[in-house]
Amino acid sequence: MQPIWQKEITYLKKVGPKRAEVLAKEAGIRTYLDLLHYYPRKYVDRSQQKRISDITEEGQHVALVGKITRIEVVKTKRGRGRLSATFTDGSGFLELTWFQGVKWLQASLKKGEEIALFGRVSRYGGSFQISHPEIDKLSDDNGKKHVLQIVPFYPSTEKLGRMGLDSRGFRTITHQMLEEAGNLIGENLSQSIMQTNNLISHKAALQFLHYPASFAKLRQAQYRIKFEEFFFFQLLLARRRLKARHQNQAPPFTRIGEYFNTFFEAHMPFSLTDAQKRVLKEIRRDLALPAQMNRLVQGDVGSGKTMVAFMSMLIAKDNGFQAALMAPTAILAEQHYKKISRMAAKVGLKTCILVGGQRKKERKEILEGVASGEFDLVIGTHALIEKTVVFKQLGLVVVDEQHKFGVEQRAKLWQKGSPFPHNLVMTATPIPRTLAMTVYGDVDVSIIDKLPPGRKPIETRVHGESKRLEVLGFIKNQIDQGRQAYVVYPLVEESEKLDLIAVVKGHELLERYFTDYRVGIVHGKMHPDDKEFEMQRFVRNETQILVSTTVIEVGVDVPNSTIMVIENAERFGLSQLHQLRGRVGRGQNKSYCILMAGKKVSADGRKRLKAMRETQDGFKISEIDLELRGPGDFLGTRQSGLPEFHLANIVEDRPILEAAREAAFTLAQEDPNLVAPENAHIRQYLMRYQKAVNLLS
Ligand code: ADP
Ligand code: MG
Repeated sequence: MQPIWQKEITYLKKVGPKRAEVLAKEAGIRTYLDLLHYYPRKYVDRSQQKRISDITEEGQHVALVGKITRIEVVKTKRGRGRLSATFTDGSGFLELTWFQGVKWLQASLKKGEEIALFGRVSRYGGSFQISHPEIDKLSDDNGKKHVLQIVPFYPSTEKLGRMGLDSRGFRTITHQMLEEAGNLIGENLSQSIMQTNNLISHKAALQFLHYPASFAKLRQAQYRIKFEEFFFFQLLLARRRLKARHQNQAPPFTRIGEYFNTFFEAHMPFSLTDAQKRVLKEIRRDLALPAQMNRLVQGDVGSGKTMVAFMSMLIAKDNGFQAALMAPTAILAEQHYKKISRMAAKVGLKTCILVGGQRKKERKEILEGVASGEFDLVIGTHALIEKTVVFKQLGLVVVDEQHKFGVEQRAKLWQKGSPFPHNLVMTATPIPRTLAMTVYGDVDVSIIDKLPPGRKPIETRVHGESKRLEVLGFIKNQIDQGRQAYVVYPLVEESEKLDLIAVVKGHELLERYFTDYRVGIVHGKMHPDDKEFEMQRFVRNETQILVSTTVIEVGVDVPNSTIMVIENAERFGLSQLHQLRGRVGRGQNKSYCILMAGKKVSADGRKRLKAMRETQDGFKISEIDLELRGPGDFLGTRQSGLPEFHLANIVEDRPILEAAREAAFTLAQEDPNLVAPENAHIRQYLMRYQKAVNLLS
């Protein structure tokens, strides 16, 4: 676009330095371009011109064109008086009244001048009148903007309003801007993309967004602008992906050999679900390429991600490479180690575990075994990324619960392979497809969307404080049958002290009630070793009830636990509730999730509890969560890398997102450097866009 768009808004006629200052402060509008992108919040149809003789009742909104035949200030007892005028369009007469802006209006409205007006009709005495009509002077060279068309309403603030920049004031300046510069709005897409996707031009879209000729045109304009907002972001992602493919070479795993086949045919303890098979196939396809795999596997708790990871690790071995799996906690690493080492041994592979706190001698032996290649599979915590850990030949890195690790930690682990190892990330915190598509344009996403057969649904109940005794009785009944229970309390920084008191009190209460059983406690303020100790006691059923803050959120697997009680459940986020619930329902016995609701539950809180009661599908839950919180909050805006879309909404405009993504990825394939003449506009626009978007590294 032309440099005029960088021109400071203060130079626009009818703005000036004072208004410019307020525009910048209150609305972030500094340039012509900012104002161009300051879109109306709603539109009101004032396009149907009526005649005064048509007016039959009060309350009607009408647009009229005519002349003022009388205008005068009428003194009132208090205040500055009101302005009273008579208006006619030849078919009848109408009274107009103003109580505000009297002076200014009196100076600007002339008898006999042709005006268009819009307002709500009321009856005063025997005749109809309109108070505070909106007025356009038809003699103005600027023509109409407030009346006789679909009229835009702009967001404003009190301070803007005080400077005359209410909706009406904004209309004046956007109109002025389009008069001055509208013809200079350039195109930023190619003809072929516009044709394929049925898009109107960039220029028409922006003009119609401010002043739509009809509601149909408005919809076309909105579609076009949303499309391009998505398109340029997706194009950026598509290009990053191509670049990564090109740069990050990795060893191609072309063989599916003995380890994989033998395990699959002779030792697989169950048949894989279709979802597991599909994801494994996607992984195999990626691994066979000489470019680094970057795949995220999303699967609800219990969907069987471990087996998928293990089979992928076998493929690495089939091609002569070691594989590593990194888990966020020692307990989780332990659990993975137990399962995986047992399975690996069946095909003659050796597994080791590397976590903090191991004895020096033991650690030394492990490190030597990893370096010499004696160990084929290496499981661990972030202890794996320490400098001293050297692999003989690392070909695949699996990261469990990736959101618990920073980008840097994962990158450090990759650097232990040369060339880069393939990268598989597993998460039980599903991100809705729409969002995954937006954020992870450069990561491939696989979804395990079915649980293994035979899972018993978890019964979820919501109770208030009045049911406390009943709940205690219910827990007792389960424990008497040999089961175990979790009781989880919220803990947030703002009310940390109070929250900790609540946990400790809750623990005391349970100890008093369950005199025949042991009640353990784990919270974030404890020393890690003590936490670990308490957790292990629970794992071994030495404690029957575990009271905790959310530290048990991730991954612990105690199949004998059948009750999850969540205190003040309304204070938890939806995905957190779902994760917590996933701690039960892992064994043979029917499980229960009991959500204890506090006294004050917000509307959103109620929606969360309702969602929990109604579904156990992690993806559905994440969709609802996204709807309730909005994308920024859902991902944590700062680290999400999502740009701010002015008009588009990734939840509501999913079909547009899909079309834009398709167009962007196709273009990136066909003309990666955007050298074709027809893509020149796209290239220019992208360069400016790239600078503006602060992307996630
Ligand atoms: P998650 O996806 O939460 O990591 P896991 O991999 O721990 O889930 O699997 C949960 C449980 O389901 C494990 O006990 C595992 O052995 C079992 N499992 C996994 N896949 C299947 C399957 N296809 N059929 C039956 N059980 C399975
Ligand atoms: Mg798991």
